[in-house]
Amino acid sequence: MSLLQILKHSKRRGIVTIRYPLVPIEVDELYRGKPELDPELCIACGACANACPAEALTVESSNGVKIWRIFYGRCIYCARCQEVCPVGAIKLTREFELASKSREDLFYEARFALARCSSCGGVMDVSQREVDYARELIEISELPPELKEELSRYVAMCQKCKRRAFAENLAGVYIHGER
Ligand code: SF4
Ligand code: SF4
Repeated sequence: MSLLQILKHSKRRGIVTIRYPLVPIEVDELYRGKPELDPELCIACGACANACPAEALTVESSNGVKIWRIFYGRCIYCARCQEVCPVGAIKLTREFELASKSREDLFYEARFALARCSSCGGVMDVSQREVDYARELIEISELPPELKEELSRYVAMCQKCKRRAFAENLAGVYIHGER
């Protein structure tokens, strides 16, 4: 094709490329971009980390806090975290310009206080927010009031105190016939 033919062809076709990044690009409404956490809603339950196939998310306890962390360098934008979050705290946005000169820029973390056992006062491996959330769910359930009260008591206890309270309860029922 001669140069003249190419010029004629281009004129006929018009502009077929876009001017991004000089001109911002509009992505589709359903586009799956950067996942973002709302730390006000998150209860640090870890469901998103368990579901993340790329291990981009972690939720771990350290020095009395739960640390929720994401590494965007590993994220594959599958939206599993958004699907499993019980409180809608993580959502995929339409943001896709995540390139950075520093690896550190690709991390984000949020910290949540760990709960203390209502019986012995020891630090538990669960956030206070998760305990509060569990209690709210129990409260709005249709369980009988006495069972609600008992379950609410158990969720605020560490494993050791829970086992002891459960054993004492059983002993009350089967040995002394109390409840
Ligand atoms: S979008 Fe997928 S890969 Fe990215 S953090 Fe969520 S679950 Fe992990
Ligand atoms: S599943 Fe939701 S509430 Fe639970 S840790 Fe992840 S973002 Fe937070």
